[in-house]
Amino acid sequence: MTNDKIGIFGGTFDPVHWGHLLVAESACSQVGLEQVIWVVNSRPHYKQSTPFQHRWEMVRQAIADRRDWEIAPPSDTFMKTTYASQTLQALQANYPDSRWHWILGLDTFLTLPRWYHRQEIAPACEWLVAPRPLYESESPPIQVLCDRVAQQLATESTYIRWQIIDLPLVGISASLVRQYCRDRRSIRYFVPEAVRIYIGDRQLYT
Ligand code: ATP
Repeated sequence: MTNDKIGIFGGTFDPVHWGHLLVAESACSQVGLEQVIWVVNSRPHYKQSTPFQHRWEMVRQAIADRRDWEIAPPSDTFMKTTYASQTLQALQANYPDSRWHWILGLDTFLTLPRWYHRQEIAPACEWLVAPRPLYESESPPIQVLCDRVAQQLATESTYIRWQIIDLPLVGISASLVRQYCRDRRSIRYFVPEAVRIYIGDRQLYT
């Protein structure tokens, strides 16, 4: 198939939670994506994480009932991929002539002006930005923050297409789920049931 609208959803997914699934679903229905490819970051360089195999398996189980969603295989290409630009290149080779959309939360979008090889990746995708509670209590509206990102990139002649995903704020984060596990509190309804069982069976975050 050609000219399909494909969404890429990258993350550490340590673990995957309902916030991620809501973001992907809302992006799909808003933009009419034919497919979403979930890319589990194999070696997040900025934080300690659970082994890749566990994080990958939890995402696989979380999206198992979706025929239009897939998980990038733990192949050599993706295991070696560190930067988003390399991920996009690898996917473009597998799915030529597709229209690429990058799904991400506001916190991650705000870092785009510092991404490695942003001049190549930023114009190659449409950016679908999910609202997310930020740490600062008094932050400007999401529209203003996204405009600033686009303006910052424009100063280096990088022009982007972006839109905000229409979704209520979801306060779930992977750190919160990990904290709940450490505190031995229930994570039921924070994560899909299969993920909750996977974590419980292996005592992943306790
Ligand atoms: P952590 O709490 O460990 O930082 P996380 O919950 O942010 O993890 P990631 O795997 O780092 O999870 O996130 C993958 C992508 O999903 C990022 O672009 C992030 O901004 C987005 N995201 C995660 N949770 C939410 C949420 N509740 N609402 C909107 N976007 C989210």
